[in-house]
This record gives sequence, structure tokens and C-alpha cells, in this order.
Amino acid sequence: MSERTPYLAANWKMQKTVVETKDFLDRFMGGIGDLTGKDIAICPPFTSLAAAVERCRRSPVKVAAQNMHEADTGAYTGEISASMLTSLGVEAVVLGHSERRALFAESDEALSLKVVSALDAGLQPILCVGETDAEREEGSTEDVLRRQLEADLAQVEASRLGTIVIAYEPVWAIGTGETASPEQAEKAIGFARSVVAELDAAAAAQVRILYGGSVKPDNAEELLRSEEIDGALVGGASLDPADFTAICEAAP
Ligand code: PEP
Repeated sequence: MSERTPYLAANWKMQKTVVETKDFLDRFMGGIGDLTGKDIAICPPFTSLAAAVERCRRSPVKVAAQNMHEADTGAYTGEISASMLTSLGVEAVVLGHSERRALFAESDEALSLKVVSALDAGLQPILCVGETDAEREEGSTEDVLRRQLEADLAQVEASRLGTIVIAYEPVWAIGTGETASPEQAEKAIGFARSVVAELDAAAAAQVRILYGGSVKPDNAEELLRSEEIDGALVGGASLDPADFTAICEAAP
């Protein structure tokens, strides 16, 4: 871990009803120890955001959405805007998760607009980038990271870059039980930071870059002790309050 504040985010994907969200948060808040010096975010489905905001009020835990539309209002049936999220008390938003890129054709062009729209509304973007198994096999991990980061951050002013959270999530490690080794994660995250440095050196020192991909209580400590890895974006293991607590506590 570096001097940047560790950031631990729970991506629940399309899981947990309102009742289940409240139950999780009651158990998580009841069991977690001192969170001083750590940023914790819960990313429930849209339908549970209001309940999560209510339960996290007056706590250090922030609530993040899992997606948003780039426009503020308009004829976009089924979509949600940044200002709708902030009006609920949501503080952050996951953008460009690989499931959205692969299953919902989320483009880098749309993401470049979403990142700016989130920042304009006062939402902290948690921007996900990462290579597929085939891309790693053919040796193009760094090309993919450069392409995604340069495109997705293209419209962001240098002065705002450092406030963004980036999650390096190799697609082959998401939900597979296969975790990147600390060395693999460090190399990719170091490279991602160098791409941000080409945009703005000060931002590169400030930006938090997390690892995501089958983080569990039994591998969290090994990953999170790295100077290069600023935290974790956790999917499956974040559904269980005890497991997510253990991961949060593993962050130094
Ligand atoms: C994710 O969905 O962002 C993720 C990292 O999932 P998992 O932890 O289940 O691999």
C-alpha cells in the first residue's frame, strides 16, 4: 500500500433486493471495526441505492451506482443520469465494468462522456479497465490498458484527473476464481499509472488504482500489501458481510 488512502468497493452487480441490502449493511456496519483511513464504497443495484444511502448516512461508508447515462436528461428509456444519482445521495459510480463493455456494448466513446458527466455532477468515477484472456495471451495487455485509459480519460481536465478512481480488472480474473498474482497486478497497475502520468504527473501520484478480479479474504492481504495496489473492487466476495469485512480489514 502507498500513502494514498486505500479504497475498497463492493460491486454487487444484479444482486440483492432492498431487504437484502439493509440486512447486509446492518451486519456489515455492526461487524466492521475502525474504518479510519480507508474509503469504503458499496455499489448496489439502482433499486437499492436509496436504502443503502439511508443506512450509510452518518457512517464513513459511501454508496456508488454501477452505471449511469452520459446525458443529464432526455429520451433515454431505462437510463439514469448523474444528477439523479447525486439527488439520492450517491457519491460515486462504477463506469466501464467489463460486463457492461462486453454484454451491453459500452464504448470508450460513451465512457469518455460518462466520466466527465459524473465529475460535473460531483460523482466520483470508478473507471474499470482490463484485458481479456486472449489479449493477455497475445501480449497486448499494455496496449489495451493504454487504449482504454487514453480514450476514457480523453475529455477530463488535468486538474480533475487525480480524483478519479481506476480499477484494473483483468477480464479473465472476474468471477472466475482465478486471481492475478500480486506481480501481474503490480505490473499492470504501474503501467496504468504511467499512462495517467503522461496526461498529468501530479494526477498520477494522486489517482487511486485498485485491483479487481476474484479478490477473496484469503488473497486480499497479499494483494493489498503492495505499494502499487491502492485497494480492491470486489464482486462475489462482497456479497457476504463477513467476507467483505475481512477484505476491508486486510487493507493496511
Ligand atoms: C467485479 O465484478 O468487478 C469483480 C472483480 O468480480 P469478482 O470479485 O467476483 O471477480
